[in-house]
Amino acid sequence: MFKKILVANRGEIALRVICACKELNIPTVAVYSEADRHSLHVRFADEALCIGPASSSESYLNIPSIISAAEVANVDAIHPGYGYLAESDHFAEVCETCEIKFIGPPPKVIRMMGDKARAREAMQEAGLPIIPGSGILAEKEDALKALDEVGLPLIIKAAAGGGGRGMRIVREKGQLLEALETARSEAKAAFGNSDVYLERYLDNPRHIEFQVLADSHGNTIHLGERECSIQRRHQKLIEESPSPVVSQEERDKLGGQICQAVAEIGYENAGTMEFLRDQKGRFYFIEMNTRVQVEHPVTEMVTGVDIVKEQIEVAAGKKLETRQDQVTLSGNAIECRINAEHPRTFAPSPGRITAYHPPGGPGVRVDSLAYADYVVTPHYDSMIAKLIAHGANRKEALQRISRALDMFVLEGIESTLDLHRRIVRNERFRSGDFGTSFLQDTDLG
Ligand code: ADP
Repeated sequence: MFKKILVANRGEIALRVICACKELNIPTVAVYSEADRHSLHVRFADEALCIGPASSSESYLNIPSIISAAEVANVDAIHPGYGYLAESDHFAEVCETCEIKFIGPPPKVIRMMGDKARAREAMQEAGLPIIPGSGILAEKEDALKALDEVGLPLIIKAAAGGGGRGMRIVREKGQLLEALETARSEAKAAFGNSDVYLERYLDNPRHIEFQVLADSHGNTIHLGERECSIQRRHQKLIEESPSPVVSQEERDKLGGQICQAVAEIGYENAGTMEFLRDQKGRFYFIEMNTRVQVEHPVTEMVTGVDIVKEQIEVAAGKKLETRQDQVTLSGNAIECRINAEHPRTFAPSPGRITAYHPPGGPGVRVDSLAYADYVVTPHYDSMIAKLIAHGANRKEALQRISRALDMFVLEGIESTLDLHRRIVRNERFRSGDFGTSFLQDTDLG
């Protein structure tokens, strides 16, 4: 097992990794920016090293600084969390060169899945259904030809995209070339890569994703699916497991195909295969996330598998202890992302938290970076807490998340708490009959 792990991240996910390491008895090293000096991940790690100023590009994305910290602290592994360097094949390669284990898949797999157009091709070859679409669009003519083949409406997506950014919907042929140019320049600005491709745009689909785990001995399992259709601006706000619409038969069948596809590309560690499900119930692969995800706790709550501990153990060369036939989904879990932002405009709302008391009680879990007097800085992502509730069935999970939201004290900043309170009381949400347009189409009062 590893002797010491550096956590190359901040916020709740850095704390989550520290929890796993403590349970595995592995000492941890936190890295932090000057703005995060008073953060909980700094407090709870065994050692902490400042890696630069507040700006992410000079700290949490600063590879030389992070590697220097790893060498100074003499760690033998780095957990990248999610975001920042978690999907950087370059960073994974630098770790390899420095003989530090990167807790994630091999760099070449990160690279392949990081290009969403290539990932589509690879998964199609591996036998998974994909949405009709194109490869990278090199010339205007390619786009016009693809439009004729794919039909309208369509969505232009950045090959290096993520976080719901860099997507453009095209409903009329006349909009295509202008949308293409805008998408290209947005992609270049956001991801440093202007490659774009297009896909048929599905009307109000459901976003359903499968959690996979793979070890270095050729074993791959899936932990069922997560329903992530409650989104704002193509970004997830509420996730749950299992999905209200996936039957055990469908789960077994698609899950089996996914494990085979993932094994074929030489995948190792935890990953997520994302799909859209159209209104006829057909699934289409959209992308793979080669890291732990924000919403992993709902899967942990229903399967009892600690995904972060598994990540560390398989990275250390251990075999997966759980076989597919031992994976059972018990009850239902729902997660609400509590963001420091205006509930209607979703504009960030940084500032001092004046009062903070997270809820407890049966079936409730809170993963958070917050405490009373904590100052939410404008430098980083606006998510400050994840509230997760588990129940024997969906009805109980809903009862628990509703009362937990009511008992969540968070004052001094604006947040999405109240929006969540309204969503979980909405009849349509409660019925399980919704798609990705839910938030846009629903008057929550
Ligand atoms: P990102 O990597 O930025 O998260 P994804 O490809 O995962 O982008 O898509 C994010 C969300 O955008 C999906 O959950 C869905 O709501 C919407 N979306 C993406 N592709 C399509 C599509 N072809 N049709 C309809 N909605 C889509």
